[in-house]
Amino acid sequence: MKILAVGLNYESHNAEMNRTSPIKEPVVFMKPESAQLKDGKPFFIPEFSNEIHYETELVVKINRLGKYIEERFAHRYYNELTVGIDFTARDLQRSLKERSLPWEIAKGFDGSAALGSFVSKQAFENIQDINFHLDINAKTVQKGNTRDMIFSVDNIIAYVSQFFTLKIGDLIFTGTPAGVGPVKINDHLEGYIENKKLLDLNIK
Ligand code: MG
Repeated sequence: MKILAVGLNYESHNAEMNRTSPIKEPVVFMKPESAQLKDGKPFFIPEFSNEIHYETELVVKINRLGKYIEERFAHRYYNELTVGIDFTARDLQRSLKERSLPWEIAKGFDGSAALGSFVSKQAFENIQDINFHLDINAKTVQKGNTRDMIFSVDNIIAYVSQFFTLKIGDLIFTGTPAGVGPVKINDHLEGYIENKKLLDLNIK
């Protein structure tokens, strides 16, 4: 399986990253399978970074093989979703960006794709109107609503499937709203979709 991720998909986050130019198509990157962090396992801060940021995101799971998927049919290609954390080594990413180098290692390292428990999308009336948030040590640090995405889930699926055949079990991280920030050892992270806690992990 593979993990696709979309960057810069919420204006509010782009503003906090000091990005002023408009985003005209989805900004896509990938994380390897080894980046997955599941079942409430702890996230270990890696040695190569002193600035690991959380990015709280809606994640969808692909359940059908597809290529060149039309946006109007894209909803047929996923039936489960969850909240995930796109852990980012911000210091490393910044240093690579400054040198105009690819920043995969700052995004795709082991454990960088934390996943909550998946729930059926049938539980939601409208995929593009879902509240999600992250609490750290019982305090809400980031919240968003999928209505604020620049590119909708179906739009993203149509776009990425031009380049990558989507396979059963592939995951798509759909971008983070404003409020990203650092994690530190002993932090307790709890991720919610609406009022349901789906993600619970500790930073070590
Ligand atoms: Mg992200």
